[in-house]
Amino acid sequence: MFPVEVFRSEASAANLLEQVRWREGLQCPRCQSESVIKYGSYREYQRYRCKNCGRTFNDKTGTIFAHAKIGLDKLLFAFYSLLRFNTSIRQLDAEIDVSYRSLHRRVERFARTLDAPQLDLVGPVEIDEFYVSAGKKGRERDQESRSRGLSKRGRGNYDEDKPPVFVLVDRGSDQRYVIPSKSADESAVRLLLDSHEEESLTVYTDGFRAYDPLETDETYQREAVIHVEGEYVDGDVHVNTCESHASLARRWLSPHRGISKDKLTTYLRLFEFRRKILRKPGRKALKDIVRTVL
Ligand SMILES: [Zn+2]
Repeated sequence: MFPVEVFRSEASAANLLEQVRWREGLQCPRCQSESVIKYGSYREYQRYRCKNCGRTFNDKTGTIFAHAKIGLDKLLFAFYSLLRFNTSIRQLDAEIDVSYRSLHRRVERFARTLDAPQLDLVGPVEIDEFYVSAGKKGRERDQESRSRGLSKRGRGNYDEDKPPVFVLVDRGSDQRYVIPSKSADESAVRLLLDSHEEESLTVYTDGFRAYDPLETDETYQREAVIHVEGEYVDGDVHVNTCESHASLARRWLSPHRGISKDKLTTYLRLFEFRRKILRKPGRKALKDIVRTVL
C-alpha cells in the first residue's frame, strides 16, 4: 500500500523520521549521551538539548536530510518512487517540482550510505558480464577516450564508455552481486572471485576468454557453457540466473539513460538495495529506506 499519508506534508514526513530515528530512544548525535530533553522546535522538527554536552539538535541533524533545500515530504517521496517504481530523477523533477541538481545530489548521498557488497563466496558461483552504454551526464567531456577507437580486447571497456558490469550468483548462499568494473579481463575476474571459503570454488561461466585462466588454477573448478555451439544448459552448468539478473539490472538502469560510467556504482547499489524492499508493504519499505540512511 502506497504510504500517501507520509507524503502529504512536511510535518507527517517529519513524524516518520522521528519514529524511525529514535526507535531505540533519544541519543545525542555528538556525545551519544541519552540524557536528552525536548527543547522547542525547529520548523516542523522536534528540537532537543543534550544535558551532558549542552548541544541542541533536531530530528534531521547529522542525517542526509539535514540542510536540504527540498522538503522532507518531497525527498521521501522521491526516494520511494525512485526505488519502488524506478522513476527517473528527470521525471521526479517534473512531478514534484524540485530541482534536478539538488535531488540528484541527495540521491548520490543516499547511495553513498549503502555499503559496498562484501563477497564471501560459497559456491557454486555463476559469473557473467554485461555492458552498459554510458553517457556523459554529470561528467566533463573526455575527448581523449573517445578518439582511441575500438579496443581489440574484450567485449567492451571503460575507456570507450562501454563499461562492463559483472553479475555473480552464489548458489551456495543465494546472494547476487552486480558490480561494475574498469575492464572485463582476467585480473578483474580474479579480484571478484578471490574471497571464498572452500579450497576450490566451483565457477560456472560462458565461453568468454577472460574466464579461461581459471581452468589452470587449482583454487577453482571452472565449468563453461559455450553459447556459440548452441549449448545453453548442461545440467547445473549454466549462467541463466546471471542472465535474468542482468536483464533486471538493465531494466533498472534504462530510465536513467545517459548516466556516466563513474555513476554506475551509485545506481547499481540502489538496484541491490531495491531488491530488499521491493515486496514489503509501502510504509514498511519507506521506514527501511529511512533507517538505511540514518
Ligand atoms: Zn551530547
